[in-house]
Amino acid sequence: MLKTEKPKMNLDEILNIANSNALTVLKSLGFESLVERNGYITGRCALHTGDNCTSFTFYKNSGVWTCWTAGCHNTVAQRNIIGIIMKKTSLDLEHSVKYLCGILGIPAPGVTKKDIEDYNLRRKVDDIFGSDVIASDENYVVFDDKYFNFRFPNIDNTYFVSRGFNEGTLRKFNLRICDNKNDSFYKRIIIPIYDSSGRMVGFSGRAIDERKPKWKHSYRLQPKKHLYNINNICKKNDVNYIIVCEGMSDVWKMYEFGFENCVGVLGCGSFSNGHVISVMRCLPAVSNIVIWFDNDEAGRKSAQKAVNISKSLYTTYNIVLDDNKYNDITEMSKDYVMGIMSNINKYKVQ
Ligand SMILES: [Zn+2]
Repeated sequence: MLKTEKPKMNLDEILNIANSNALTVLKSLGFESLVERNGYITGRCALHTGDNCTSFTFYKNSGVWTCWTAGCHNTVAQRNIIGIIMKKTSLDLEHSVKYLCGILGIPAPGVTKKDIEDYNLRRKVDDIFGSDVIASDENYVVFDDKYFNFRFPNIDNTYFVSRGFNEGTLRKFNLRICDNKNDSFYKRIIIPIYDSSGRMVGFSGRAIDERKPKWKHSYRLQPKKHLYNINNICKKNDVNYIIVCEGMSDVWKMYEFGFENCVGVLGCGSFSNGHVISVMRCLPAVSNIVIWFDNDEAGRKSAQKAVNISKSLYTTYNIVLDDNKYNDITEMSKDYVMGIMSNINKYKVQ
């Protein structure tokens, strides 16, 4: 007997269809002046109903959108087309998905309320930990500087200087503070992260008080692919060595000590194959890699992983300290760091 049951469509499939037909959906919601360009749509944001005809951008590949004028994307439960529907129509999630399916003319028998809740939960997890959902380089989300400056206009001196950093470092790395109570990054130092071509691929927020988690990453930042500060090093010619550190604040400290060829891994704990590919691609003259992770068990473990990846391709140094005087680079003095760097051969991996 033939089965007549329609194939079930999950929320990912529905969203994929919605993203490629976003123009239709947005029109149905009262968005005006819509112009479809290669991979994205611009128009007048119908959520805050201002009169700027290019206030809104929707990226068709990822389904992520931005309201440049009023920051409407900060006011929704999820930053995809369903978030737009919920905001505009005041429907709940389940009914927003039904509305979407209706507009697109697709059946949605497979989607249950639980599916939607699970999906929503997964998105929250992605938001906190970053995600590998986007496979190719071309597809990762690039944040506009304009959006970043709009969302985080304020520079923090007090916290940063109280931790012993110079104001020049703060400007060099374009660090901000989020003091907007309604923002999900409230009370965090905001650290923009750029790829080797200088495009902003995300940002991290470090809590300035006891709030958890201590680190929070922006939507779809891909820690295993990007290396902190590689954008600054790539601009220089003939870089023949790099120092790979565990934290972004280690990179700042090393910069202050005069070591500018320093990159940081982003929260994933180690140097990955993806990082090696980035280094090979944009720093072809590098022949030495210095691994300098935290002076604790986790740091030593991650360092060993990094060494294993690096040593067949590069002359590799692994800085493992003999004592427990310092936990990480930010605690060390300039003289101490200079002393280690001038004795670097001691740490060469055979
Ligand atoms: Zn808006």
